[in-house]
Amino acid sequence: MDTKILLTEKEMPTRWYNIQADLPNPLPAVIHPGTGQPIGPQDLAPLFPMAIIAQEVSQERYVDIPEEVQEVYKLWRPSPLYRAHRLEKALDTPAKIYYKYEGVSPAGSHKPNTAVPQAYYNKQEGVKRITTETGAGQWGCALAMACRFFDIECKVYMVKVSYEQKPYRRSMMEVWGAQVAASPSQETQAGRNILEQDPDSPGSLGIAISEAVEDAATREDTHYSLGSVLNHVLMHQTIIGEECLLQFEKLDDYPDVVVGCVGGGSSYGGMIFPFVRERLANGKKTEFIAVEPAACPSITAGSYAYDFGDTAALTPLMKMYTLGHSFVPPRIHSGGLRYHGMAPLISQLADEGIIEARAVHQRSVFEAAVQFAKTEGILPAPEPSHAIRVVIDEALKCKESGKGRSILFNLCGHGHFDLTAYEDYLSGRLEDYAYPREEVERAIAELPKVG
Ligand SMILES: *Cc1c(COP(=O)(O)O)cnc(C)c1O
Repeated sequence: MDTKILLTEKEMPTRWYNIQADLPNPLPAVIHPGTGQPIGPQDLAPLFPMAIIAQEVSQERYVDIPEEVQEVYKLWRPSPLYRAHRLEKALDTPAKIYYKYEGVSPAGSHKPNTAVPQAYYNKQEGVKRITTETGAGQWGCALAMACRFFDIECKVYMVKVSYEQKPYRRSMMEVWGAQVAASPSQETQAGRNILEQDPDSPGSLGIAISEAVEDAATREDTHYSLGSVLNHVLMHQTIIGEECLLQFEKLDDYPDVVVGCVGGGSSYGGMIFPFVRERLANGKKTEFIAVEPAACPSITAGSYAYDFGDTAALTPLMKMYTLGHSFVPPRIHSGGLRYHGMAPLISQLADEGIIEARAVHQRSVFEAAVQFAKTEGILPAPEPSHAIRVVIDEALKCKESGKGRSILFNLCGHGHFDLTAYEDYLSGRLEDYAYPREEVERAIAELPKVG
């Protein structure tokens, strides 16, 4: 019985999968907030390189991974697929539990899978400097490293609550040469406006995106890079699911259900899209469960509507599940999941009933995380621990019904920088936040009117 299913470097997939080619319905257009018309490539050119803009709207089923990018991927890819024998035994379940471990990357999460190609395509276009936002710090670390590899300056606006909770993530970005500012900051108009209204603002991904976009849009030498949500980001992450498919071939097994956490939806999209292709095109029956925090429940409690991607309403409008761009989520420890919106691709699959969504509270999440660490050894990040909660629940259902299913989840990062959160949990200080219904209703009422 294998514990770790490995691929060789030679077996690493050399193409990303673009699910837009196989969607039952095309994605709704992205809308310019000023004109109310669909945006074109020229609208995005101040922020992104043309190669990325082309990928964003591409209908090609497969896109070749540039060789320079493959070479960097090989620092940690192919990543291992594990069978969680020890967790299964502790749960006394007939279910088979598998996890794909993306914490083996130098930055400790799946994020470098897209940071590296984004830095590469910017370098190809002669860009000198890139700005971005980061929540828990994983994306900032990934981009800082990728920019270093391609000799590009990197400026990171880090959500203030994480900047304070996770000082070592900031140091890590600085080791790779990035500049880091706590967001909201005094460095942009968007940041100054927020601070004027709320000097104690904990920040949010939406606010930090506003700052990073403003910085890039107002400087000729600078582009902007987003770590989740957009189509090209999810496509870069499909290397995860493509590797999983090859690993399951070696096992002669196939997942009945694939679980993952969703913040903006990139790790989960990257994991499931190749499996969704197999379901839509090849008759596989896999179920998909996306897990979100009860304190920031974009799919389970949000609206499927056009909204801005950022708080200051600078970005184009995308149709997605959203809690409203002015919603500032409670200070939960899963910084990577504190985002008001959801990737349009994940949103559409959820709307069409291909993906089911569930919301879970953070105390039950940490309970699952500790059970996982005690059995499998790896200390999971709080974000994928949302998936672990649901995986354990599903495995216990299998125990009740006596039916053994194969359950796969994406362990998309380790929790070595999240020990404050573990300490709070172990000492009984961790709180569950009630779903902030009134705040969400207020923010939903402010959604832009489109069409
Ligand atoms: C960024 C991050 C997330 C949330 O982003 P997605 O785009 O939903 O993947 C989840 N887990 C980890 C470890 C992250 O770094």
